[in-house]
Amino acid sequence: MPPFFVPPGKTDDARPLHRLPFLVMMGTLTRCHPLEPRLMIFRPSAEDVLLVVDVQNDFCSGGALAVPEGEAVVPVVNALAERFQTVILTQDWHPAGHVSFASRHERPAFSTIDLDYGTQVLWPDHCVQGTDGASFHPALHVPHAQAVVRKGYHPEIDSYSAFLEADHTTPTGLTGYLRERSVRRVFAVGLATDFCVLWTALDAAKAGFSVAVIEDACRAIDLDGSLDRAWSAMREAGVERIESPSISG
Ligand SMILES: [Zn+2]
Repeated sequence: MPPFFVPPGKTDDARPLHRLPFLVMMGTLTRCHPLEPRLMIFRPSAEDVLLVVDVQNDFCSGGALAVPEGEAVVPVVNALAERFQTVILTQDWHPAGHVSFASRHERPAFSTIDLDYGTQVLWPDHCVQGTDGASFHPALHVPHAQAVVRKGYHPEIDSYSAFLEADHTTPTGLTGYLRERSVRRVFAVGLATDFCVLWTALDAAKAGFSVAVIEDACRAIDLDGSLDRAWSAMREAGVERIESPSISG
């Protein structure tokens, strides 16, 4: 488990000291972890949101686009959600024949094509609007979630990110929602680490939020090294990589 905070003087290339401003901004660090003094404990406030990305049947075992161990995030997310006042869920929500479906292009799943907005990975048909596959995992229990952001509903544009669709231009409306709610910090969890969680975290950072990804509440697809690339990109963008024990109730 990586430490949440490495004091100055510690050598740990993976945990750069640019984390300090994030911690200062968090403002509500409460104490050190009793078993790991370097692990800082954080108590969420009204300025924090837990953003639960795409914990849907199609991304769990038996689903059309199953992420390995995808359903393993469910109990972790349920426990985390109890510690946040503000929780938002996202839901991949495609029309039949969506541009991201390999079947539409008669190409193999997981191959790529170039679209107007860039390279698109072609996926098996998944999360089709109104299907069981698009439903949240039945064990996901977040009754106090206050909004569900559906994404990927434009037939010709995919949307990994909860903030901007894959053309990097079309907003989902989440940035405005969070700003009106006075949210400053985004804690992202869910599926999959190296696609929807990654793009969501990067766009949240670009929008000016402080962002942390809670690693043990995520699972990855890891397509040709995509997971390593995802963590590198998030680190460069100043996104924190933490573990769920860092969040207290
Ligand atoms: Zn999708």
